[in-house]
Amino acid sequence: MYQPQLESLPRAELEALQLEQLRATLKRIHDNNPRYAERLNGFGPGDVRCLDDIRLFPFLTKEDLRQAYPFGLTCAPRKDFARMHMSSGTTGTPIICPHTPNDVRQWAEIVARCVTAAGVTREDVFQITPSFGLFNGGFGFHYGVSAVGAMIIPIGAGRSPLQLQFMRDLGTTAFSAIASYPLRLIEVADKEGFDFRRDTQLRVGILGAEIWSDEMRRRIEGRMGIESFDISGMTESGGVGMGIDCAEHDGIHVWEDHYLIEMVNFDTGEPLDDGEWGEMVVTTLTREGLPLIRFRTHDITRIVSREPCRCGRTGLRIARLSCRTDDMIKVKGVNFYPKQVESLLLGHGEVGSDYLIVIERVDGADRMTVNVEAASEGGRWTGDEAHRPTAETRRALAEQLSDELYNMLGLRAEVNLMRSGELPRPEGKAVRVQDKRNSR
Ligand SMILES: [Zn+2]
Repeated sequence: MYQPQLESLPRAELEALQLEQLRATLKRIHDNNPRYAERLNGFGPGDVRCLDDIRLFPFLTKEDLRQAYPFGLTCAPRKDFARMHMSSGTTGTPIICPHTPNDVRQWAEIVARCVTAAGVTREDVFQITPSFGLFNGGFGFHYGVSAVGAMIIPIGAGRSPLQLQFMRDLGTTAFSAIASYPLRLIEVADKEGFDFRRDTQLRVGILGAEIWSDEMRRRIEGRMGIESFDISGMTESGGVGMGIDCAEHDGIHVWEDHYLIEMVNFDTGEPLDDGEWGEMVVTTLTREGLPLIRFRTHDITRIVSREPCRCGRTGLRIARLSCRTDDMIKVKGVNFYPKQVESLLLGHGEVGSDYLIVIERVDGADRMTVNVEAASEGGRWTGDEAHRPTAETRRALAEQLSDELYNMLGLRAEVNLMRSGELPRPEGKAVRVQDKRNSR
């Protein structure tokens, strides 16, 4: 552990610390920002007697943060801002999260805990593949890995051939990435005859920023010969590093001395019992620039356990994110999430890792097409020889996938099995859905 004492606090002490930090955060809001204090239903630090009293306060939404652009809800004097990051929302006004020097230190601390939980030490060579810029990924890992003392390769996003070259020539042992980026690296490696197991010493991949299925995880780990770790966090909470799964892989630990987690019913906002799936709501306990009180993350997960983990850490564990409510697709009255489709597709060895769900409106009715690539390695068929796809077997596989989708969703979709490399490869986060219904 990076901070053994704090990471393994007995629950009673941990909750006492949370309560103290929550009161300090409320005091900070009252002392620094009357507009923010006003929206707290008239309650202040003195009204909070136990952690459940968090329910005295209203939820804070992404829309609230957008309307506060740029600094409407910040709680530190402007001269104390050290830097900022911005949410990667695709539409509308961005959300700006300024960091004070203490925020930057807090960020380094939580990311250092995360990479340590993933087994990274100062002996490692750590390649940072998320971008350095407004997106928080690159810098977050930079601070955290610096604190641990490993050698950093700050290459940032893209340049896949150079990524592979560095992994081989500079002896990279661990890397961080947006969850779908390893698929790009694997693809370029296949083209170049590069074999991760033969040509690199990689052993750890820390992946996040996207919902990624267990099926995708198995593929990435198998091809790269790594153990992967699922890291959580978002721009609004202060950046990547709110928690990570440890080597037990039995849920994602949240650093509870920094974050108070609630699970609520997505529709009603009512609190849920541990184990029930719902929307994660985050209150920051140590952030200064933009403290969050009951921030609705739109992430759907559940609390797996508040018991101490076999690794010795006591922070509660949440399930890997199952979906983001913003990603919900509604076609012909059926609600579903891209990850459900991904799990089904990637459960088939003949199917590649790239897919795109296209929804259109044709003659007044919704039409869904699932474009998915066939599995391939450097353009060669790598599956079972007996199943080498011919035009006929491809058609049969497409029909089978369509039937399986229908059985799962109750929704008929055309499955279009494409050649490997046919779908576009966007930089940054993967694009899995193209909804053309409202674009005219
Ligand atoms: Zn653990």
